[in-house]
Amino acid sequence: MYNTHTEVIIVGAGPVGLTLACELRLAGIHVAVLERRAERTTQSRALTIHGRTLEMLGLRGLDQRFTALGKPLSSGHFAGLDSRLDFSSVDSPHPYTLFLPQSSTERLLEERLLEEDVAIVRGALVGQVQQDAHGVMVSGTCEGEPFSLRAQYLIGADGGHSLVRQQADIPFDGVAATCSMLMGDVLLRHPPASPVLALTNAAGSLMMVPLGDGRHRVIVMNAQRPHVAATEAATLEELSQVSTAIAGHDFGLHDPVWLSRFGDETRLARRYRQGRIFLAGDAAHIHMPAGGQGMNVGMQDAMNLGWKLAGVLKGHAPDSLLDSYHAERHPVGQALQHNTLAQTALLTRFDPHTLALRAAVSDMLAQPELNRKMASDLSGFGLRYPAPLASSAGHAGWTGRRAPDWLLRLADGTAVGIHELLHAGKWLHLAIGDAPGAPPFGFDRAWLTALKVRTAAPQMAGLAGILIRPDGYIDAAT
Ligand SMILES: Cc1cc2nc3c(=O)[nH]c(=O)nc-3n(C[C@H](O)[C@H](O)[C@H](O)COP(=O)(O)OP(=O)(O)OC[C@H]3O[C@@H](n4cnc5c(N)ncnc54)[C@H](O)[C@@H]3O)c2cc1C
Repeated sequence: MYNTHTEVIIVGAGPVGLTLACELRLAGIHVAVLERRAERTTQSRALTIHGRTLEMLGLRGLDQRFTALGKPLSSGHFAGLDSRLDFSSVDSPHPYTLFLPQSSTERLLEERLLEEDVAIVRGALVGQVQQDAHGVMVSGTCEGEPFSLRAQYLIGADGGHSLVRQQADIPFDGVAATCSMLMGDVLLRHPPASPVLALTNAAGSLMMVPLGDGRHRVIVMNAQRPHVAATEAATLEELSQVSTAIAGHDFGLHDPVWLSRFGDETRLARRYRQGRIFLAGDAAHIHMPAGGQGMNVGMQDAMNLGWKLAGVLKGHAPDSLLDSYHAERHPVGQALQHNTLAQTALLTRFDPHTLALRAAVSDMLAQPELNRKMASDLSGFGLRYPAPLASSAGHAGWTGRRAPDWLLRLADGTAVGIHELLHAGKWLHLAIGDAPGAPPFGFDRAWLTALKVRTAAPQMAGLAGILIRPDGYIDAAT
Protein backbone atom coordinates (compact mmCIF):
# COMPACT_ATOMS: atom_id res chain seq x y z
CA MET A 1 0.00 0.00 0.00
CA TYR A 2 1.60 3.25 -1.13
CA ASN A 3 0.26 5.80 1.37
CA THR A 4 -1.23 5.88 4.83
CA HIS A 5 -3.45 8.90 4.27
CA THR A 6 -5.55 10.29 1.44
CA GLU A 7 -8.60 12.53 1.02
CA VAL A 8 -11.18 9.96 -0.15
CA ILE A 9 -11.12 6.16 -0.10
CA ILE A 10 -13.36 4.36 -2.56
CA VAL A 11 -13.95 0.67 -1.87
CA GLY A 12 -14.72 -1.14 -5.13
CA ALA A 13 -13.54 -0.56 -8.69
CA GLY A 14 -16.80 -1.46 -10.41
CA PRO A 15 -18.38 1.10 -12.77
CA VAL A 16 -19.67 3.18 -9.86
CA GLY A 17 -16.43 3.40 -7.88
CA LEU A 18 -14.55 4.22 -11.08
CA THR A 19 -17.01 6.98 -12.06
CA LEU A 20 -16.68 8.52 -8.61
CA ALA A 21 -12.91 8.38 -8.76
CA CYS A 22 -12.97 10.16 -12.16
CA GLU A 23 -15.22 12.90 -10.77
CA LEU A 24 -13.06 13.45 -7.68
CA ARG A 25 -9.81 13.50 -9.68
CA LEU A 26 -11.27 16.04 -12.08
CA ALA A 27 -11.42 18.41 -9.11
CA GLY A 28 -7.88 17.49 -8.05
CA ILE A 29 -8.92 15.40 -5.02
CA HIS A 30 -6.54 12.67 -3.85
CA VAL A 31 -8.33 9.38 -4.01
CA ALA A 32 -7.47 5.74 -3.32
CA VAL A 33 -9.54 3.09 -5.10
CA LEU A 34 -9.28 -0.26 -3.31
CA GLU A 35 -10.36 -3.36 -5.23
CA ARG A 36 -10.19 -6.92 -3.94
CA ARG A 37 -9.94 -8.46 -7.43
CA ALA A 38 -6.38 -8.83 -8.65
CA GLU A 39 -7.55 -8.31 -12.26
CA ARG A 40 -10.43 -6.70 -14.06
CA THR A 41 -13.25 -9.20 -14.68
CA THR A 42 -13.96 -10.20 -18.28
CA GLN A 43 -17.57 -11.15 -17.48
CA SER A 44 -20.10 -8.45 -18.25
CA ARG A 45 -23.25 -8.28 -16.23
CA ALA A 46 -24.51 -4.98 -17.69
CA LEU A 47 -24.90 -4.47 -21.43
CA THR A 48 -27.12 -1.40 -21.55
CA ILE A 49 -25.95 2.17 -21.03
CA HIS A 50 -28.91 4.52 -21.07
CA GLY A 51 -28.84 7.83 -22.93
CA ARG A 52 -28.83 9.94 -19.77
CA THR A 53 -25.73 8.14 -18.47
CA LEU A 54 -24.01 8.79 -21.81
CA GLU A 55 -25.09 12.39 -21.61
CA MET A 56 -23.53 12.67 -18.14
CA LEU A 57 -20.31 11.16 -19.46
CA GLY A 58 -20.59 13.81 -22.18
CA LEU A 59 -20.68 16.51 -19.48
CA ARG A 60 -17.04 15.55 -18.96
CA GLY A 61 -16.21 15.03 -22.64
CA LEU A 62 -16.08 11.23 -22.31
CA ASP A 63 -19.19 10.05 -24.15
CA GLN A 64 -17.54 9.47 -27.52
CA ARG A 65 -15.13 6.95 -26.05
CA PHE A 66 -18.21 4.84 -25.24
CA THR A 67 -20.28 5.46 -28.37
CA ALA A 68 -17.25 4.58 -30.52
CA LEU A 69 -17.34 1.03 -29.14
CA GLY A 70 -21.02 0.33 -28.46
CA LYS A 71 -24.05 -0.33 -30.60
CA PRO A 72 -26.95 2.15 -30.32
CA LEU A 73 -30.53 0.90 -30.16
CA SER A 74 -33.34 3.45 -30.27
CA SER A 75 -35.66 1.37 -28.09
CA GLY A 76 -35.61 -0.41 -24.76
CA HIS A 77 -38.03 -2.62 -22.87
CA PHE A 78 -40.22 -2.70 -19.79
CA ALA A 79 -40.74 -6.26 -18.53
CA GLY A 80 -40.03 -7.60 -22.03
CA LEU A 81 -43.43 -6.35 -23.22
CA ASP A 82 -44.20 -6.26 -26.94
CA SER A 83 -44.57 -2.44 -26.95
CA ARG A 84 -40.97 -1.32 -26.76
CA LEU A 85 -39.94 1.95 -25.12
CA ASP A 86 -39.01 4.56 -27.69
CA PHE A 87 -36.13 6.91 -26.78
CA SER A 88 -35.78 8.49 -30.21
CA SER A 89 -37.72 11.70 -29.48
CA VAL A 90 -35.60 12.82 -26.48
CA ASP A 91 -33.82 16.16 -27.00
CA SER A 92 -30.33 14.73 -26.42
CA PRO A 93 -27.14 13.89 -28.32
CA HIS A 94 -27.89 10.30 -27.20
CA PRO A 95 -31.58 9.50 -27.82
CA TYR A 96 -30.99 5.74 -27.55
CA THR A 97 -29.50 3.04 -25.34
CA LEU A 98 -26.02 1.79 -26.09
CA PHE A 99 -25.14 -1.89 -26.00
CA LEU A 100 -21.67 -2.05 -24.52
CA PRO A 101 -20.42 -4.84 -22.24
CA GLN A 102 -19.75 -3.75 -18.65
CA SER A 103 -16.14 -4.93 -18.97
CA SER A 104 -15.60 -2.29 -21.71
CA THR A 105 -17.29 0.40 -19.62
CA GLU A 106 -14.97 -0.40 -16.71
CA ARG A 107 -11.91 -0.46 -18.98
CA LEU A 108 -12.73 2.97 -20.44
CA LEU A 109 -13.26 4.47 -17.00
CA GLU A 110 -10.03 2.94 -15.72
CA GLU A 111 -8.16 4.34 -18.74
CA ARG A 112 -9.52 7.77 -17.92
CA LEU A 113 -8.31 7.41 -14.33
CA LEU A 114 -4.85 6.39 -15.47
CA GLU A 115 -4.70 9.58 -17.55
CA GLU A 116 -5.22 11.37 -14.22
CA ASP A 117 -2.42 9.32 -12.63
CA VAL A 118 -4.71 7.24 -10.45
CA ALA A 119 -4.00 3.52 -10.42
CA ILE A 120 -6.50 1.18 -8.81
CA VAL A 121 -5.01 -0.66 -5.83
CA ARG A 122 -5.83 -4.22 -6.86
CA GLY A 123 -5.76 -7.26 -4.59
CA ALA A 124 -6.78 -4.98 -1.68
CA LEU A 125 -9.51 -6.68 0.37
CA VAL A 126 -11.05 -4.23 2.82
CA GLY A 127 -12.05 -6.00 6.04
CA GLN A 128 -12.77 -3.22 8.50
CA VAL A 129 -14.12 0.30 8.41
CA GLN A 130 -14.23 2.80 11.28
CA GLN A 131 -15.00 6.50 11.50
CA ASP A 132 -14.48 9.24 14.08
CA ALA A 133 -15.16 12.97 14.08
CA HIS A 134 -12.16 13.72 11.85
CA GLY A 135 -11.99 10.91 9.35
CA VAL A 136 -12.32 7.25 8.45
CA MET A 137 -9.94 4.34 8.73
CA VAL A 138 -10.04 1.19 6.64
CA SER A 139 -7.93 -1.87 7.11
CA GLY A 140 -7.59 -5.17 5.37
CA THR A 141 -5.09 -7.19 3.41
CA CYS A 142 -3.35 -6.33 0.17
CA GLU A 143 -1.78 -9.27 -1.62
CA GLY A 144 -1.77 -11.09 1.70
CA GLU A 145 -0.11 -8.26 3.68
CA PRO A 146 -2.10 -6.24 6.24
CA PHE A 147 -2.70 -2.56 5.48
CA SER A 148 -4.56 0.38 6.95
CA LEU A 149 -5.39 3.69 5.34
CA ARG A 150 -6.97 6.87 6.66
CA ALA A 151 -9.00 9.47 4.78
CA GLN A 152 -11.44 12.28 5.32
CA TYR A 153 -14.31 10.46 3.61
CA LEU A 154 -15.10 6.92 2.50
CA ILE A 155 -17.35 5.69 -0.30
CA GLY A 156 -18.70 2.16 -0.32
CA ALA A 157 -19.03 1.26 -4.00
CA ASP A 158 -18.44 -2.36 -3.09
CA GLY A 159 -21.52 -3.98 -4.60
CA GLY A 160 -24.64 -5.69 -3.25
CA HIS A 161 -22.91 -7.50 -0.37
CA SER A 162 -21.22 -4.23 0.66
CA LEU A 163 -18.95 -4.65 3.68
CA VAL A 164 -18.91 -0.86 4.04
CA ARG A 165 -22.70 -0.80 4.38
CA GLN A 166 -22.63 -3.55 6.99
CA GLN A 167 -19.84 -1.96 9.02
CA ALA A 168 -21.51 1.44 8.90
CA ASP A 169 -24.57 -0.34 10.31
CA ILE A 170 -26.91 0.91 7.58
CA PRO A 171 -30.04 -1.29 7.27
CA PHE A 172 -30.70 -2.78 3.82
CA ASP A 173 -34.50 -2.89 3.71
CA GLY A 174 -36.48 -4.82 1.13
CA VAL A 175 -37.74 -8.19 0.02
CA ALA A 176 -35.99 -11.55 -0.23
CA ALA A 177 -35.62 -13.34 -3.55
CA THR A 178 -38.77 -15.04 -4.83
CA CYS A 179 -37.45 -16.40 -8.14
CA SER A 180 -34.34 -16.74 -10.25
CA MET A 181 -33.38 -16.54 -13.90
CA LEU A 182 -30.82 -18.50 -15.84
CA MET A 183 -28.52 -16.78 -18.29
CA GLY A 184 -25.72 -17.68 -20.68
CA ASP A 185 -23.46 -15.88 -23.15
CA VAL A 186 -23.43 -18.36 -26.04
CA LEU A 187 -23.08 -18.87 -29.77
CA LEU A 188 -26.27 -19.65 -31.72
CA ARG A 189 -26.44 -21.94 -34.75
CA HIS A 190 -29.87 -20.50 -35.62
CA PRO A 191 -30.08 -16.90 -34.33
CA PRO A 192 -33.45 -15.12 -34.25
CA ALA A 193 -34.40 -12.89 -37.20
CA SER A 194 -34.73 -9.72 -35.08
CA PRO A 195 -31.68 -8.44 -33.18
CA VAL A 196 -33.54 -8.49 -29.85
CA LEU A 197 -36.04 -11.22 -28.99
CA ALA A 198 -38.39 -11.16 -25.98
CA LEU A 199 -41.04 -13.86 -25.48
CA THR A 200 -43.26 -14.63 -22.51
CA ASN A 201 -45.87 -17.38 -22.54
CA ALA A 202 -47.18 -20.24 -20.41
CA ALA A 203 -43.81 -22.04 -20.68
CA GLY A 204 -41.83 -19.13 -19.25
CA SER A 205 -39.92 -16.07 -20.43
CA LEU A 206 -37.01 -15.76 -22.84
CA MET A 207 -34.83 -12.82 -23.85
CA MET A 208 -32.02 -12.81 -26.40
CA VAL A 209 -29.72 -9.93 -27.22
CA PRO A 210 -26.59 -9.82 -29.37
CA LEU A 211 -23.37 -9.12 -27.48
CA GLY A 212 -21.59 -7.61 -30.47
CA ASP A 213 -18.86 -10.26 -30.61
CA GLY A 214 -20.92 -12.88 -32.45
CA ARG A 215 -22.40 -14.22 -29.22
CA HIS A 216 -25.86 -13.75 -27.79
CA ARG A 217 -26.95 -13.34 -24.19
CA VAL A 218 -29.82 -15.75 -23.54
CA ILE A 219 -31.90 -15.27 -20.37
CA VAL A 220 -34.73 -17.61 -19.42
CA MET A 221 -37.15 -18.35 -16.65
CA ASN A 222 -38.76 -21.77 -16.64
CA ALA A 223 -42.43 -21.52 -15.61
CA GLN A 224 -42.13 -25.04 -14.13
CA ARG A 225 -39.16 -24.09 -11.90
CA PRO A 226 -39.31 -20.38 -11.14
CA HIS A 227 -37.14 -20.50 -8.02
CA VAL A 228 -33.89 -22.39 -8.48
CA ALA A 229 -31.25 -21.91 -5.78
CA ALA A 230 -28.32 -19.75 -6.89
CA THR A 231 -26.04 -22.58 -5.78
CA GLU A 232 -27.49 -25.04 -8.36
CA ALA A 233 -25.09 -25.19 -11.30
CA ALA A 234 -26.26 -23.36 -14.43
CA THR A 235 -25.92 -25.63 -17.48
CA LEU A 236 -26.09 -25.19 -21.24
CA GLU A 237 -28.53 -28.13 -21.43
CA GLU A 238 -31.03 -26.42 -19.13
CA LEU A 239 -30.68 -23.11 -21.02
CA SER A 240 -31.25 -24.87 -24.38
CA GLN A 241 -34.14 -26.92 -23.11
CA VAL A 242 -36.02 -24.00 -21.56
CA SER A 243 -35.43 -21.61 -24.49
CA THR A 244 -36.64 -24.29 -26.94
CA ALA A 245 -39.76 -24.91 -24.84
CA ILE A 246 -40.63 -21.19 -24.79
CA ALA A 247 -39.83 -20.37 -28.45
CA GLY A 248 -41.06 -23.66 -29.92
CA HIS A 249 -37.81 -24.21 -31.79
CA ASP A 250 -34.15 -24.83 -31.09
CA PHE A 251 -31.67 -21.93 -31.52
CA GLY A 252 -28.69 -24.29 -31.44
CA LEU A 253 -26.97 -22.88 -28.34
CA HIS A 254 -23.31 -23.85 -27.98
CA ASP A 255 -19.91 -22.74 -26.68
CA PRO A 256 -20.99 -20.78 -23.58
CA VAL A 257 -18.41 -18.39 -22.12
CA TRP A 258 -20.47 -17.60 -19.04
CA LEU A 259 -23.45 -19.34 -17.44
CA SER A 260 -25.04 -17.96 -14.29
CA ARG A 261 -28.23 -17.46 -12.29
CA PHE A 262 -29.52 -14.22 -10.83
CA GLY A 263 -32.51 -13.48 -8.62
CA ASP A 264 -34.93 -10.72 -7.75
CA GLU A 265 -33.82 -9.83 -4.22
CA THR A 266 -34.74 -6.14 -3.91
CA ARG A 267 -33.26 -3.92 -1.22
CA LEU A 268 -32.48 -0.28 -0.57
CA ALA A 269 -30.07 1.19 1.96
CA ARG A 270 -32.02 3.16 4.56
CA ARG A 271 -29.39 5.90 4.52
CA TYR A 272 -26.96 6.79 1.73
CA ARG A 273 -24.83 8.77 4.19
CA GLN A 274 -23.65 7.87 7.67
CA GLY A 275 -21.34 10.64 8.86
CA ARG A 276 -18.23 10.45 6.69
CA ILE A 277 -19.32 7.28 4.90
CA PHE A 278 -21.41 7.20 1.70
CA LEU A 279 -22.92 4.34 -0.29
CA ALA A 280 -23.33 4.35 -4.06
CA GLY A 281 -24.45 1.88 -6.72
CA ASP A 282 -25.28 -1.71 -5.81
CA ALA A 283 -24.01 -1.08 -2.28
CA ALA A 284 -27.09 1.16 -1.92
CA HIS A 285 -29.65 -0.66 -4.09
CA ILE A 286 -30.15 -4.14 -5.52
CA HIS A 287 -33.03 -5.49 -7.60
CA MET A 288 -33.91 -7.77 -10.50
CA PRO A 289 -31.83 -6.58 -13.49
CA ALA A 290 -34.78 -5.59 -15.67
CA GLY A 291 -34.66 -2.70 -18.10
CA GLY A 292 -30.87 -2.30 -17.74
CA GLN A 293 -30.85 0.08 -14.79
CA GLY A 294 -28.58 -0.91 -11.87
CA MET A 295 -25.28 0.27 -13.30
CA ASN A 296 -26.87 3.34 -14.85
CA VAL A 297 -28.52 4.48 -11.62
CA GLY A 298 -25.26 3.72 -9.80
CA MET A 299 -23.17 5.80 -12.21
CA GLN A 300 -25.71 8.59 -11.82
CA ASP A 301 -25.38 8.28 -8.01
CA ALA A 302 -21.66 8.80 -8.60
CA MET A 303 -22.27 11.87 -10.78
CA ASN A 304 -24.43 13.32 -7.99
CA LEU A 305 -21.99 12.68 -5.13
CA GLY A 306 -18.63 13.32 -6.82
CA TRP A 307 -18.82 17.09 -7.36
CA LYS A 308 -20.47 17.68 -3.98
CA LEU A 309 -17.74 15.84 -2.11
CA ALA A 310 -15.05 17.58 -4.17
CA GLY A 311 -16.64 20.99 -3.46
CA VAL A 312 -16.71 20.35 0.30
CA LEU A 313 -13.11 19.09 0.36
CA LYS A 314 -11.97 22.14 -1.63
CA GLY A 315 -13.74 24.43 0.84
CA HIS A 316 -16.24 25.71 -1.75
CA ALA A 317 -19.31 24.45 0.14
CA PRO A 318 -20.27 23.48 3.71
CA ASP A 319 -20.45 19.84 4.76
CA SER A 320 -24.26 20.13 4.85
CA LEU A 321 -24.30 20.04 1.02
CA LEU A 322 -23.44 16.36 1.36
CA ASP A 323 -26.84 15.67 2.96
CA SER A 324 -28.43 16.50 -0.39
CA TYR A 325 -26.88 13.30 -1.77
CA HIS A 326 -29.28 11.13 0.26
CA ALA A 327 -32.13 13.61 -0.21
CA GLU A 328 -31.78 13.50 -4.00
CA ARG A 329 -30.70 9.93 -4.70
CA HIS A 330 -32.66 7.87 -2.14
CA PRO A 331 -35.98 8.67 -3.90
CA VAL A 332 -34.36 7.55 -7.17
CA GLY A 333 -33.47 4.25 -5.47
CA GLN A 334 -37.07 3.92 -4.28
CA ALA A 335 -38.41 4.48 -7.79
CA LEU A 336 -35.92 1.90 -9.08
CA GLN A 337 -37.23 -0.60 -6.54
CA HIS A 338 -40.82 0.02 -7.55
CA ASN A 339 -40.31 -0.30 -11.27
CA THR A 340 -38.16 -3.43 -11.00
CA LEU A 341 -40.64 -5.08 -8.61
CA ALA A 342 -43.42 -4.28 -11.08
CA GLN A 343 -41.37 -5.70 -13.95
CA THR A 344 -40.62 -8.82 -11.90
CA ALA A 345 -44.34 -9.39 -11.33
CA LEU A 346 -44.99 -9.16 -15.08
CA LEU A 347 -41.93 -11.20 -16.11
CA THR A 348 -41.98 -14.10 -13.72
CA ARG A 349 -45.59 -15.29 -13.49
CA PHE A 350 -47.11 -17.23 -16.31
CA ASP A 351 -50.74 -17.82 -15.27
CA PRO A 352 -53.53 -16.58 -17.59
CA HIS A 353 -54.20 -13.58 -15.34
CA THR A 354 -50.63 -12.29 -15.53
CA LEU A 355 -50.38 -12.97 -19.27
CA ALA A 356 -53.58 -10.92 -19.73
CA LEU A 357 -52.14 -8.15 -17.53
CA ARG A 358 -49.01 -8.12 -19.70
CA ALA A 359 -51.13 -7.65 -22.80
CA ALA A 360 -53.07 -4.83 -21.13
CA VAL A 361 -49.93 -2.97 -19.97
CA SER A 362 -48.36 -3.47 -23.39
CA ASP A 363 -51.44 -1.89 -24.99
CA MET A 364 -51.09 1.10 -22.66
CA LEU A 365 -47.43 1.51 -23.60
CA ALA A 366 -48.46 1.66 -27.25
CA GLN A 367 -49.91 5.11 -26.38
CA PRO A 368 -47.15 7.62 -27.29
CA GLU A 369 -47.61 9.74 -24.16
CA LEU A 370 -47.39 6.80 -21.74
CA ASN A 371 -44.52 5.34 -23.73
CA ARG A 372 -42.59 8.62 -23.49
CA LYS A 373 -43.21 8.83 -19.74
CA MET A 374 -42.01 5.28 -19.07
CA ALA A 375 -39.03 5.69 -21.43
CA SER A 376 -37.96 8.89 -19.70
CA ASP A 377 -38.38 7.32 -16.23
CA LEU A 378 -36.30 4.23 -17.04
CA SER A 379 -33.55 6.07 -18.90
CA GLY A 380 -33.12 8.80 -16.27
CA PHE A 381 -33.90 11.57 -18.77
CA GLY A 382 -37.07 12.45 -16.83
CA LEU A 383 -35.40 12.89 -13.45
CA ARG A 384 -35.90 16.19 -11.56
CA TYR A 385 -34.34 17.41 -8.32
CA PRO A 386 -36.95 19.96 -7.24
CA ALA A 387 -35.11 21.63 -4.33
CA PRO A 388 -32.53 24.23 -5.43
CA LEU A 389 -29.10 23.94 -3.80
CA ALA A 390 -27.39 27.25 -4.54
CA SER A 391 -30.01 29.83 -5.43
CA SER A 392 -33.72 30.09 -4.83
CA ALA A 393 -34.10 32.93 -7.36
CA GLY A 394 -36.23 32.52 -10.44
CA HIS A 395 -38.86 30.30 -11.99
CA ALA A 396 -39.54 27.15 -9.95
CA GLY A 397 -40.66 25.32 -13.10
CA TRP A 398 -37.08 25.09 -14.32
CA THR A 399 -35.43 23.99 -11.08
CA GLY A 400 -34.06 20.47 -11.06
CA ARG A 401 -34.59 19.69 -14.75
CA ARG A 402 -31.65 18.45 -16.77
CA ALA A 403 -30.11 21.05 -19.05
CA PRO A 404 -30.17 19.68 -22.61
CA ASP A 405 -27.12 20.29 -24.78
CA TRP A 406 -28.57 23.43 -26.38
CA LEU A 407 -26.35 25.41 -28.71
CA LEU A 408 -25.48 29.01 -27.70
CA ARG A 409 -23.40 31.86 -29.04
CA LEU A 410 -21.28 33.43 -26.32
CA ALA A 411 -20.56 37.15 -26.08
CA ASP A 412 -17.13 36.59 -27.70
CA GLY A 413 -18.84 34.98 -30.72
CA THR A 414 -17.99 31.35 -29.91
CA ALA A 415 -20.71 28.82 -30.74
CA VAL A 416 -20.82 26.11 -28.09
CA GLY A 417 -23.12 23.47 -26.59
CA ILE A 418 -24.06 23.79 -22.91
CA HIS A 419 -22.55 20.41 -22.04
CA GLU A 420 -19.11 21.39 -23.25
CA LEU A 421 -19.20 24.33 -20.84
CA LEU A 422 -19.51 21.85 -17.96
CA HIS A 423 -16.41 19.78 -18.81
CA ALA A 424 -14.45 21.27 -15.89
CA GLY A 425 -17.05 19.97 -13.40
CA LYS A 426 -17.85 23.45 -12.04
CA TRP A 427 -21.10 25.39 -11.60
CA LEU A 428 -22.09 27.41 -14.66
CA HIS A 429 -24.03 30.65 -14.88
CA LEU A 430 -25.13 31.94 -18.27
CA ALA A 431 -26.30 35.56 -18.36
CA ILE A 432 -28.34 36.09 -21.50
CA GLY A 433 -28.12 39.30 -23.55
CA ASP A 434 -27.85 42.45 -21.42
CA ALA A 435 -28.94 40.68 -18.21
CA PRO A 436 -26.71 41.24 -15.17
CA GLY A 437 -24.22 38.56 -14.02
CA ALA A 438 -24.79 35.64 -11.68
CA PRO A 439 -27.69 35.72 -9.14
CA PRO A 440 -27.13 35.12 -5.41
CA PHE A 441 -24.99 31.98 -5.21
CA GLY A 442 -24.85 30.02 -1.94
CA PHE A 443 -21.33 28.68 -2.43
CA ASP A 444 -17.83 29.99 -3.09
CA ARG A 445 -17.80 31.97 -6.35
CA ALA A 446 -14.48 30.38 -7.28
CA TRP A 447 -16.58 27.27 -7.95
CA LEU A 448 -18.66 29.10 -10.59
CA THR A 449 -17.95 29.79 -14.24
CA ALA A 450 -19.95 32.88 -15.26
CA LEU A 451 -20.38 33.59 -18.97
CA LYS A 452 -22.32 36.06 -21.07
CA VAL A 453 -24.45 34.68 -23.88
CA ARG A 454 -25.11 36.72 -27.03
CA THR A 455 -27.66 34.34 -28.55
CA ALA A 456 -29.45 31.74 -26.44
CA ALA A 457 -31.20 28.61 -27.72
CA PRO A 458 -34.87 29.20 -28.71
CA GLN A 459 -35.94 26.94 -25.81
CA MET A 460 -34.48 29.54 -23.40
CA ALA A 461 -36.66 32.38 -24.73
CA GLY A 462 -37.76 34.74 -21.96
CA LEU A 463 -34.89 33.83 -19.61
CA ALA A 464 -32.36 36.35 -18.32
CA GLY A 465 -30.02 33.76 -16.89
CA ILE A 466 -29.64 30.14 -16.00
CA LEU A 467 -27.60 28.52 -13.22
CA ILE A 468 -26.51 24.92 -13.89
CA ARG A 469 -25.01 22.45 -11.43
CA PRO A 470 -21.81 20.55 -12.26
CA ASP A 471 -23.94 17.44 -12.95
CA GLY A 472 -25.98 19.25 -15.57
CA TYR A 473 -29.20 19.94 -13.63
CA ILE A 474 -30.67 23.44 -13.60
CA ASP A 475 -30.60 24.99 -10.13
CA ALA A 476 -32.26 28.28 -11.03
CA ALA A 477 -33.50 30.15 -14.08
CA THR A 478 -34.35 33.85 -13.88
C1 LIG B 1 -27.32 -10.46 -15.56
C2 LIG B 1 -27.21 -9.01 -15.22
C3 LIG B 1 -27.40 -8.06 -16.21
C4 LIG B 1 -27.31 -6.71 -15.90
N1 LIG B 1 -27.52 -5.81 -16.90
C5 LIG B 1 -27.48 -4.48 -16.61
C6 LIG B 1 -27.65 -3.52 -17.66
O1 LIG B 1 -27.81 -3.87 -18.83
N2 LIG B 1 -27.59 -2.20 -17.33
C7 LIG B 1 -27.41 -1.79 -16.04
O2 LIG B 1 -27.42 -0.59 -15.79
N3 LIG B 1 -27.19 -2.68 -15.05
C8 LIG B 1 -27.22 -4.01 -15.30
N4 LIG B 1 -26.96 -4.92 -14.32
C9 LIG B 1 -26.59 -4.44 -12.97
C10 LIG B 1 -25.10 -4.03 -12.91
O3 LIG B 1 -24.27 -5.09 -13.29
C11 LIG B 1 -24.75 -3.56 -11.51
O4 LIG B 1 -25.73 -2.65 -11.08
C12 LIG B 1 -23.37 -2.88 -11.48
O5 LIG B 1 -22.33 -3.82 -11.63
C13 LIG B 1 -23.17 -2.17 -10.13
O6 LIG B 1 -21.92 -1.54 -10.14
P1 LIG B 1 -21.17 -1.22 -8.77
O7 LIG B 1 -19.90 -0.56 -9.15
O8 LIG B 1 -22.09 -0.58 -7.83
O9 LIG B 1 -20.87 -2.66 -8.12
P2 LIG B 1 -20.02 -3.87 -8.68
O10 LIG B 1 -19.98 -3.90 -10.15
O11 LIG B 1 -20.54 -5.08 -7.97
O12 LIG B 1 -18.54 -3.57 -8.18
C14 LIG B 1 -18.20 -3.67 -6.80
C15 LIG B 1 -16.71 -3.90 -6.72
O13 LIG B 1 -16.33 -3.89 -5.34
C16 LIG B 1 -15.37 -4.89 -5.12
N5 LIG B 1 -15.42 -5.24 -3.70
C17 LIG B 1 -16.45 -5.80 -3.02
N6 LIG B 1 -16.15 -5.95 -1.72
C18 LIG B 1 -14.89 -5.48 -1.56
C19 LIG B 1 -14.02 -5.37 -0.44
N7 LIG B 1 -14.39 -5.76 0.80
N8 LIG B 1 -12.78 -4.86 -0.62
C20 LIG B 1 -12.38 -4.40 -1.86
N9 LIG B 1 -13.18 -4.51 -2.97
C21 LIG B 1 -14.42 -5.02 -2.82
C22 LIG B 1 -15.82 -6.03 -6.04
O14 LIG B 1 -14.77 -6.93 -6.33
C23 LIG B 1 -16.29 -5.27 -7.27
O15 LIG B 1 -15.27 -5.11 -8.23
C24 LIG B 1 -27.04 -6.30 -14.58
C25 LIG B 1 -26.84 -7.25 -13.58
C26 LIG B 1 -26.92 -8.60 -13.89
C27 LIG B 1 -26.71 -9.61 -12.80
